[in-house]
Amino acid sequence: MKIPSKVNRFCKYCGEYTEHTVVLVKPGRRGTMTKGSRRKLWNIDHGYGSTPYPMFEHKKIKVKTTKRYDIRYKCNKCGKMEVQKRGKKAKKLEIK
Ligand SMILES: [Zn+2]
Repeated sequence: MKIPSKVNRFCKYCGEYTEHTVVLVKPGRRGTMTKGSRRKLWNIDHGYGSTPYPMFEHKKIKVKTTKRYDIRYKCNKCGKMEVQKRGKKAKKLEIK
């Protein structure tokens, strides 16, 4: 999926339609020792829910073919960034 690098959209800070540049934000690395990731490891190791595989086998299986991309719009007039509620879902996303 290709999206244009510059779009005209409404800026809530300026209160008018201005030109925005499209920024693709890469997800940061999850911490390995946070409570959520420790709980997930425990669940996978113990076959909790729908993951009845040990960790090394479980990692090989790739189920999802698309992912949700985090696209943000930066206003060229005031320089503020606007966040979408939900990103776009696509196999591969390019900014022209
Ligand atoms: Zn603005």
